[in-house]
Amino acid sequence: MNETPSPETTAPYQVFARKYRPSTFAELVGQDAMVQTLTNAIHADRLAQAYILTGVRGIGKTSTARIIARALNCIGADGNGGPTPDPCGVCANCLAIAEDRHVDVLEMDAASRTGVDDIREVIDGVRYRPTSARFKIYIIDEVHMLSRHAFNALLKTLEEPPEHVKFVFATTEIRKVPVTVLSRCQRFDLRRVDMETLAAHFAAIAEKEGAKISQSALHLITRAADGSVRDGLSLLDQAVSHTATEGDGEIDEAEVRGMLGLADRSRSFMLLESVMAGDVAPALDLLGQLYKEGADPLAILEDLLEITHWLTRIKVVAAAADAPDVPEIERVRGKDLESRLSMAALARTWQMLLKGLQEVRQAPSPIQAAEMILVRLAHTAELPTPEEAIRGMQRDAGQSGAKPSAAPPPGGPTTEARLTGTASSPVVVAMPETAPEPPLEDAPNPVPTASNDAGKPAPNSPKLKTDPAKHPLVKAVMETFPGSSIEDIRVAPDSDEGDPA
Ligand SMILES: [Zn+2]
Repeated sequence: MNETPSPETTAPYQVFARKYRPSTFAELVGQDAMVQTLTNAIHADRLAQAYILTGVRGIGKTSTARIIARALNCIGADGNGGPTPDPCGVCANCLAIAEDRHVDVLEMDAASRTGVDDIREVIDGVRYRPTSARFKIYIIDEVHMLSRHAFNALLKTLEEPPEHVKFVFATTEIRKVPVTVLSRCQRFDLRRVDMETLAAHFAAIAEKEGAKISQSALHLITRAADGSVRDGLSLLDQAVSHTATEGDGEIDEAEVRGMLGLADRSRSFMLLESVMAGDVAPALDLLGQLYKEGADPLAILEDLLEITHWLTRIKVVAAAADAPDVPEIERVRGKDLESRLSMAALARTWQMLLKGLQEVRQAPSPIQAAEMILVRLAHTAELPTPEEAIRGMQRDAGQSGAKPSAAPPPGGPTTEARLTGTASSPVVVAMPETAPEPPLEDAPNPVPTASNDAGKPAPNSPKLKTDPAKHPLVKAVMETFPGSSIEDIRVAPDSDEGDPA
């Protein structure tokens, strides 16, 4: 080991989130409205006594607080400057604040110091003039964590703060901050940074770091960041160091997927397609493959849930698919799949997946639970939606004058399902012909969800003997499985396949 100082010691490694922490308003990503307001206020010399910054974690609240501290205390390179929206970064005040060692800028984390004594200690110094800066600035992070007494102690100071004092509060949960405190602050809501802005920001940083990253890999990181600059930077950092140690150059999608434990997006689409078409075997195969390649079963189901949400969204607002930050795969495959699924099918899938996620979390074997959920989904996908069933029944009721037995339905699917179960005597329930019984391989594909002729009525229908929805057994099943519809129950009587109708 070499004892003499080497060049590396002069530039210690810094994580991206720290290294690229914004130090001016201009560097703050995606908060233009707030920056504009603050800039105007500084120019007009209309500074509030207290600010409260709110927004999700990692979005730049504490960074903003520090920039405000610098902006108000900057004296410029020549030492004669006043408050400015563009702190110079070189004066004594700017440097000391950047290095977290300014005696007049006090930062406190309310999450660890919630008591009244803590806050008293902090604000005791309020009456003393700042030592070297223009303003004494109190930055209180996670301010909502303060106890009621601590808030009361703070309030007294907030009501009549000396001229030389400014407060900057930051919180992720603004609703927990008492109104009495809120009403004395100028409030800024920091927004989740949109995908496009984030992607551009991360791409610029990757370039500065000399790292190459593919567009799709960048998109994954941006998506996972979920609007948070800091979270995204941590992921980018991880990806860059990962490729630096074992990669050859470009960070590609597969690497990021591996890092995030995600399944390949196109295959997630494929999985959902198979399931919605009722093709259980290929779906399970695909799930097995993804699992072997390291995808987390929970992440796979979350992916399906996300796609379901996306499909529903573009069904409601078709233009959503044309937003510039939507990757091609989401747009093209999304539109294709969406056009083949009914709204009811999407809603049902969403509910079942949501419930399934919980099961995967609780199951001793998450992959087994995921398989079961796919099987369940595939089975339900073959069934008509409740409204299709009701339409079928209404039609049946209308045709009840006709002799049903005289014309057996074409293609041979038996149209009556027997509900046995715990009922003392079997109850015969007429099922709409869109649901064949049993689901034989050679039966005409009735899938109302994944085919284009969704829900088209077949020419023949049997007489409706009883309203299935009114049957106590059916009611019981539906209460047990809130996400299910009448037709789900059809899965139960598979054992009486041979029964004559
Ligand atoms: Zn300065």
